[in-house]
Amino acid sequence: MRLKNKTALITGGNSGIGLATAKLFVAEGAKVVITGRNKETLDAAAKELGHNALALVADATDIAATDAAIKKGAETFGKFDIVFANAGIAGGTPLGSTTLEAFAKVISTNLTGVFFTVQSALPHLNDNASIILNGSVISVLGIPGYSAYGAAKAGVRSMARTMASELSPRGIRVNVVAPGAVRTPIWGAAVATPEAEKAFEQRIALTTPLGRMGETHHISKTVLFLASDDAAHIQGQEIFVDGGAVASPSGAPIYRG
Ligand code: NDP
Repeated sequence: MRLKNKTALITGGNSGIGLATAKLFVAEGAKVVITGRNKETLDAAAKELGHNALALVADATDIAATDAAIKKGAETFGKFDIVFANAGIAGGTPLGSTTLEAFAKVISTNLTGVFFTVQSALPHLNDNASIILNGSVISVLGIPGYSAYGAAKAGVRSMARTMASELSPRGIRVNVVAPGAVRTPIWGAAVATPEAEKAFEQRIALTTPLGRMGETHHISKTVLFLASDDAAHIQGQEIFVDGGAVASPSGAPIYRG
């Protein structure tokens, strides 16, 4: 048990990567507070996770709601040792047809929400805690149609380094896990039918050196590592968990003879 006697906050813990991480953390002995907007899926996740989990409705773009959820979580399970700021939305913003509202929604959820999650959590964090922010390969790859999402994730990457410098005096570590394409509901229509999912998966596999799409366990296990004492001296880093898509794209099946 790598997280015995640890308490964790996971935003967006009712789906995809966040839920997989919550399950792994509970299995590793942690008490876990998960948040999201959807009460139904939060309740279902809480049932699945059992008595060591607390599910709270809190929109990450609502600072007062985030504050209240974190306070309630800390009152229930004690101060936090781990924060996984994971809540995020996809949201395309192609040049030529994007409204200010659409652009702002992506930024407020994926960037501003991450900052205020950390700020709200700070008074309820133990010294030497581990904060993990969920980034993306898009922070360094130009992917058409995703200016706001890419900018937000690049902001997360940068913010982690600033936060690491601010929080080092308390021994608090801040790192980023940066996934490549992972099979979760965030892909919406691209994975809505078995045929669509297969076509999407083939496209990702062709452009990924390791020749496959990522699974939630690839990310949750990296988050567990960063959260645990095994990563005690890792500060301000970003770990790409992407099958080599960022570091060695030329090794992808599409380039093989
Ligand atoms: P999901 O759609 O499965 O999960 C997203 C989670 O975020 C849900 O739990 C959702 O809950 C929550 N969420 C979204 N908006 C808000 C909000 N305003 N307030 C609180 N919770 C919110 O997708 P993933 O698991 O894939 O995404 C998790 C993170 O991983 C995101 O930050 C995403 O950008 C990142 N990522 C994902 C990749 C992938 O390929 N899947 C690749 C790179 C990064 P609810 O709907 O209840 O609010």
